[in-house]
Amino acid sequence: MNDQNPKTIFPIGEQASGEYFTGDVKASYLLTDDSLFQCSIFNVTFEKGARTNWHTHPSGQILLVLDGEGLCQIKGEPVRIMKAGEIILFPPNAEHWHGASPQSRMTHIAINPNTEKGLVEWMQRVTDEEYHNIKVE
Ligand code: MN
Repeated sequence: MNDQNPKTIFPIGEQASGEYFTGDVKASYLLTDDSLFQCSIFNVTFEKGARTNWHTHPSGQILLVLDGEGLCQIKGEPVRIMKAGEIILFPPNAEHWHGASPQSRMTHIAINPNTEKGLVEWMQRVTDEEYHNIKVE
């Protein structure tokens, strides 16, 4: 799962802003500012250890994990592992983050509905302590 190129049939895109992401993240807009469906779709690839800042989406977000293994967390809940083939849902305004695991690159499609209400509100960075706070069961 960590060969040279991320497994995605979609464009890898451009380096994402270090203001909102920690580590090496590339993102491409597949559908943006769509006036018919009010929906944005992105293809995002996180290299090992990379993740978003904490953030919220006014109408929530759907992730389709395409490749690798990642981590995600909703504030107040445990850090969760997500793998290729999984669908992850973040409810409207739920503070959360998502990214690669420390051992694996991860690529996901992110779908943001009802973008007439806005897309994202960025918050503080996910600290190394928060990122590595996985409870092994
Ligand atoms: Mn999100």
